[in-house]
Amino acid sequence: MQIKRLKLSGFKSFVEPAELRIEPGLTGVVGPNGCGKSNVLEAIRWVMGESSPKSMRGSGMDDVIFAGTASRPARDFAEVSLLVERFAEDLPGDLGVSQHGDVEVTRRIERGAGSAYRVNGRDVRAKDVALLFADAATGAHSPALVSQGKISAVIAAKPTERRLMLEEAAGIAGLHVRRKDAEGK
Ligand code: ATP
Ligand code: MG
Repeated sequence: MQIKRLKLSGFKSFVEPAELRIEPGLTGVVGPNGCGKSNVLEAIRWVMGESSPKSMRGSGMDDVIFAGTASRPARDFAEVSLLVERFAEDLPGDLGVSQHGDVEVTRRIERGAGSAYRVNGRDVRAKDVALLFADAATGAHSPALVSQGKISAVIAAKPTERRLMLEEAAGIAGLHVRRKDAEGK
């Protein structure tokens, strides 16, 4: 799976609709402190299904919605779309989308009303999105997405915490999602 484009609107500091194209090769996001670089990575994790406000540096899920500034009113929704190209070796999930080719996943949250997902414009469940990304390389808890401060957290972790991190890195987190689905939970 390869990320090709990220669209944000009303997400954290991205109050106006913004689009980031990710071309093959190395992409760098540079800018002064507080300009929103970490928010870009958080948007990718969020659209893949992140459900912990704390790991999005907030106290509630509505905190991802643009909160307003002295000169701009707050927004009442946030929306992030991620365009990915799926390859033959990617697991199909169960969304009726073709096994390879471009797939656009969208998550939208409305203040006080929770969030909803779409895949290629069709309403889907959070679980469907979790399954779509349920392999070791992608998903909200993918070890490929290393947030700021995570390296020092690994160094400072207790052995039991470090084991959990290694299980995630080994792809066991993805297996847990599929097992729960198979058990109908
Ligand atoms: P650094 O270089 O220090 O790591 P950064 O480029 O990673 O900075 P971010 O942490 O992504 O910056 O962005 C922080 C900015 O996002 C802050 O200015 C913060 O006020 C803003 N921000 C976060 N959440 C919201 C929100 N809900 N509404 C408005 N602005 C927000
Ligand atoms: Mg940062």
